[in-house]
Amino acid sequence: GRLLKRTTRLRMLRPVPVPDGLAGTAPSHRPSPLHTTQEAPVLSREQIQIKTPEQVRLMRRAGLVVADIHAALREAVRAGITTAELDAVSAGVIEAAGAHSNFLGYYDFPATVCISVNDEVVHGIPGERVLADGDLVTFDCGAYILDEDGTQWHGDAAFTTVVGGTYLSETDRLVDTTTRQALWEAIAAVARAAAGEGRGRQLCLNAVGDAVETVVADVAEREGHELGILQEYVGHGIGTSMHMAPDVLNYSVKRRGPRLRPGMVLAIEPMLTAGSPATRELDDGWTVVTRDGSHAAQWEHTVAIVPGGVWVLTAPDGGAEGLAPYGIEPKALG
Ligand code: MG
Ligand code: MG
Repeated sequence: GRLLKRTTRLRMLRPVPVPDGLAGTAPSHRPSPLHTTQEAPVLSREQIQIKTPEQVRLMRRAGLVVADIHAALREAVRAGITTAELDAVSAGVIEAAGAHSNFLGYYDFPATVCISVNDEVVHGIPGERVLADGDLVTFDCGAYILDEDGTQWHGDAAFTTVVGGTYLSETDRLVDTTTRQALWEAIAAVARAAAGEGRGRQLCLNAVGDAVETVVADVAEREGHELGILQEYVGHGIGTSMHMAPDVLNYSVKRRGPRLRPGMVLAIEPMLTAGSPATRELDDGWTVVTRDGSHAAQWEHTVAIVPGGVWVLTAPDGGAEGLAPYGIEPKALG
């Protein structure tokens, strides 16, 4: 998740405790070592990079590398393995694909994947930690490819899973499944906007935050358990670098944000906690944990808006399975 300086916002659906403050320094506000020196991208009025169909196809290549990393991590994760060994799995996939890691070396991050366990929310550093059955683990990773001009095209995606396949608690199940549902509800909302369905704010960027917040409110009503939505960390635009405009909020604000339009590519990434959304950063300068020790989940895809719909670039099937419950088919560019 990109670290956001919190701005004035309006909670639309429910009150939530305000975090004590921002965790540590803001990586997204330092100059990016991944910044491309290539010709200036086309920017919309809102300074959002608008991709051509050919550029979206290049991003699909990066997205499929990320999907391959995810598949390899799902295959490898088990009790007894260290998180460093899982990072090696990720690095091997990237190298075999002839792609590059956009996490390794990012503000000196020392690995190709963030691995965050239980109360760790995001940005966990792989190391000697040994995973055990029941650990709730989030993998967040990415890759970029180079086009013939040497321009980088990035992909970024995350998933949460439980080691051994059995949740230790109903709460772990709830936070994981709800976060995944929030991701697909948000992608479906963007797809409907791209198809011109709905009106007003439903056609705009912050439909993402509205969708996530609605899922969390529905679960609170149905299950009697209010999950926390991270405030300091948000999704982002993506393209010739990993973190670009716009910020993609996971909560409702009064302003609608820019109109969603073809050529925008967004990393949509709800991050939820089982308790309070307040977080703090550990002394390692990276790992973000919940202040109350509650467990957390993160699900993310890189999503391209194309004429009439979306193409989920980091899903092998383009988003077909995830969008099927909403009666939506992804629109892959040929
Ligand atoms: Mg991201
Ligand atoms: Mg990510």
